Amino acid sequence: MGPMNSAIDRYVDLRDRVDRRAGELLARHGRAITCRARCCDCCVDLTVFPVEYHAILADLRRAGVASLPIDPSAACGFLRDGLCVLYEARPLICRTHGLPLAFEDDRSPRRLRTASSCPRTFDGADPAAIGVGPADALEVEPMNAELFEINLTFARERADGEIDPTRRIPLRRLVEDLAAMSVRPSASRRGGDDHGSGRAPRGGAE
Ligand code: SF4
Ligand code: SF4
Repeated sequence: MGPMNSAIDRYVDLRDRVDRRAGELLARHGRAITCRARCCDCCVDLTVFPVEYHAILADLRRAGVASLPIDPSAACGFLRDGLCVLYEARPLICRTHGLPLAFEDDRSPRRLRTASSCPRTFDGADPAAIGVGPADALEVEPMNAELFEINLTFARERADGEIDPTRRIPLRRLVEDLAAMSVRPSASRRGGDDHGSGRAPRGGAE
């Protein structure tokens, strides 16, 4: 992308990089990653940093989404029949679901880096035990650190001081904000058959 003028631009750039890395990891691990549409056991009601919230809201408005269906009884209100209605605009955390994640193992005396994943993926095996190391995993800590910094910049950009960068925003607030904005009506985006709870599309069948 060209010069990045705003924190929202930087957030979108980070999101694109996370998606690219997720794509690489999916290509590398293939069917060993068993995360598929309609498994949504890791979906929960989320709160997100203000920059992420406003980027998602802007995406939805750009797409002409005037209202969102919400299921108050679902683990995340944006699940519909096991699919994510926010799929294209979903938060970063949802883009990491199912992938092996790199982290520093505080149980190891030398604090070695290792990888972990959802217990359902890799057929329930511990990634480290089957030779999946941090180089084959998503680095979440730098992603979170960059998101944190972009969020602070976002709050500074708002000269009116309206944004408190420490106050996370419930994703469910999208419903009322979209309604209040009364944007032109259009069908909301759906997750399609690619995925239920935020994983990038897989090459394999469900
Ligand atoms: S990470 Fe994937 S496989 Fe694991 S619970 Fe979530 S959706 Fe299911
Ligand atoms: S992937 Fe979608 S349904 Fe699942 S937690 Fe994220 S926003 Fe909610």
